[in-house]
Amino acid sequence: AIAVRDLHKSFGKNEVLTGIDFHVDQGEVVCVIGPSGSGKSTLLRCVNRLEEPTSGTILIEGVDITDPETDLAAVRTRIGIVFQQFNLFPHLTVLRNLTLAQRRVKGRSKAEAEEVARRNLEKVGMAGRESAYPAQLSGGQQQRIAIARALSMDPDMMLFDEPTSALDPELVGDVLEVMRTLANEGMTMMVVTHEMGFAREVGDRLVFMDGGVVVEQGDPVEVLSNPQETRTRGFLSKVL
Ligand code: ATP
Ligand code: MG
Repeated sequence: AIAVRDLHKSFGKNEVLTGIDFHVDQGEVVCVIGPSGSGKSTLLRCVNRLEEPTSGTILIEGVDITDPETDLAAVRTRIGIVFQQFNLFPHLTVLRNLTLAQRRVKGRSKAEAEEVARRNLEKVGMAGRESAYPAQLSGGQQQRIAIARALSMDPDMMLFDEPTSALDPELVGDVLEVMRTLANEGMTMMVVTHEMGFAREVGDRLVFMDGGVVVEQGDPVEVLSNPQETRTRGFLSKVL
């Protein structure tokens, strides 16, 4: 679970998160929407301290990761992250992309890491592509490999930052399907997305951010069909 309290983040004089309270409970799928520049990625990146918060607390499974005493590396292995750009190692095969961190960070044997990798390739519908290089795969396939790589670290939760935004439209569905499967299996997920259909059908809660704060949140069907705040209505009228 993730619990963020009164999170502030400034870049120089520009305060982009101005007091965020946000949580994702165990097994919950929380989708985050909002205009460009509202701070969605910054919030997501603060959750495993890819960005250093200016103030506030962030609890991961009850552990305050803003505490200097916290073993950040240990916390990070429990959080899988998937970005818009797939960030696969271009010079490594699919299998090596999936086994590298398992061996280096988890200390797994080659055989064990490969077994875990194959299981996750199967899960994302990419079994049999172990020896391909990223450039030989479509964007949607690469993104599914990136998800399989994150899953191979056995994370407690997954963070997605617009995982389908860089994909050709016909490739989006396969990636969303994998994410839907993960959600159905009970994975704890934070998903920054523009895919309102996914948010409505798969999300347990929908969070609308604007100007560095959470403006409104609730049941996705409710928020999408009956937004309470003027800013939410304005945003949805543009994207729906
Ligand atoms: P988008 O929908 O376009 O991805 P977003 O909601 O994810 O937008 P952020 O990327 O979190 O928005 O950016 C919020 C604000 O913080 C923007 O004004 C952006 O310019 C600024 N910002 C983000 N990262 C940095 C950085 N590393 N240095 C300086 N400013 C930054
Ligand atoms: Mg972003």
